[in-house]
Amino acid sequence: MIREITGLHHVTSMADDAQRNNAFFTKVLGLRRVKKTVNFDRPQVYHLYYGDEYGSAGTVMTYFPFPGMPRGRRGRGEVATTVFSVPRGSLGFWEKRLDAARVSGLSRIESFGDKRLLFDGPDGDGFALVESNDDNRAPWITDDIDSDTAVRGFHSASLRLSDNGAMSELLGFMGYEKVDSAQGVTRFGMQSGNGADFIDVETVPGAEDAHQGAGSVHHIAFAVPDRAAQLAVRSALMDTGYQVTPVIDRDYFWAIYFRTPGGVLFEVATDEPGFDRDEDVASLGEELRLPSQHEHLRADLEASLAPL
Ligand code: ZN
Repeated sequence: MIREITGLHHVTSMADDAQRNNAFFTKVLGLRRVKKTVNFDRPQVYHLYYGDEYGSAGTVMTYFPFPGMPRGRRGRGEVATTVFSVPRGSLGFWEKRLDAARVSGLSRIESFGDKRLLFDGPDGDGFALVESNDDNRAPWITDDIDSDTAVRGFHSASLRLSDNGAMSELLGFMGYEKVDSAQGVTRFGMQSGNGADFIDVETVPGAEDAHQGAGSVHHIAFAVPDRAAQLAVRSALMDTGYQVTPVIDRDYFWAIYFRTPGGVLFEVATDEPGFDRDEDVASLGEELRLPSQHEHLRADLEASLAPL
């Protein structure tokens, strides 16, 4: 069994409009933009990262905004809901705030004993805020979101699959334990993890396959401390029959990817070197950072990318 994974690292989704995406995550949700860079394979497109002060593993929502991209179709074989943790008693604040920002899909539910506020992201992305008691992670504070209400990072992600057998086995192998089950959802948890500790698996046998587009999660990444741990995870997965990519340098972390039973793309990413690799913590995310192979495109990209 794998023992190196410490919880979620980041969730990466696709969007239509970069300016709308940036405004939603930095202004409405009050996350910190910790990196403004480009898609390494398609440098004409931004890669935007939002998280806590440092972009700590378990807090980072990232986006590829493709201008004009049609919306995805929700269904099975995807991350259905990405869930952020907020303090106990703050959902009333958030409900008012999201309603005032004309956010759609607002609804309150209870899930595994916790109060949850569902809402749609700017492209119909499935999100929720959940009140948690014991989340000690330091929040990023803004002018109008204080520490009594601010997002702490991810609480969990919910996978929608036609069958949960193979996924349960995989999550167990990755170090998760089955902790609860209710209303067709099985919850897996990570003991002494980084705070982003849960994966929920929803079983929806009859649903259509998801079709990716704006508002869809492209992949979900799990955290390991360093490259040695990542290599150990890679070997263990390959020994179990998974096809895993070689280690890829993403400038702010190293990444490996593999497709899981049911279709969701998983990544395992390192906590090192982090988002302060090429700029000071005090000014993270302000300037356009380019990977060295695309630095020669800077003038063109600064002219063509939407100003944020
Ligand atoms: Zn990733």
